[in-house]
Amino acid sequence: MSRILVLPGTGCRYWTAGFCLYPEALNPGLEQGFRCLVLRKLEDSLDALIDRGEKQNLSLENTGRIWLQRLVRDLGETWDCPDFMPVGDEFGGMWCARLEGDLCHLRLPPCPGRCRRYAAMPPERDEGREERDE
Ligand code: SF4
Ligand code: SF4
Repeated sequence: MSRILVLPGTGCRYWTAGFCLYPEALNPGLEQGFRCLVLRKLEDSLDALIDRGEKQNLSLENTGRIWLQRLVRDLGETWDCPDFMPVGDEFGGMWCARLEGDLCHLRLPPCPGRCRRYAAMPPERDEGREERDE
């Protein structure tokens, strides 16, 4: 019996680092499980801070400033995640290489290869990605 070869999904517009963005593109923001754990935690702390700021009559500007200070302090050089993969940006900041917007590559479903939802990427975007993935 001959084996069926599955083509790689790398040319698909939903492909990212071996994972599939299709379910997120279908219902943006619906699946909270795709989101970065660290950013989710920070967002929860922002919500709590806004609640507290409202009770203490703090302006939104001051609340934002406090949150930003905490963000810088909490994120620091190592994020509180066992899968954190540090990568620097051009402004001297530190991010996780597995972050895509507010989504985490590792929390997305893996791409098993070219499937029926495969959507070819426009050539100019494809070229940009090849450069990035090298
Ligand atoms: S080929 Fe299919 S599984 Fe792979 S990224 Fe594209 S849509 Fe997702
Ligand atoms: S691996 Fe990175 S992007 Fe994923 S949850 Fe951890 S810190 Fe967030």
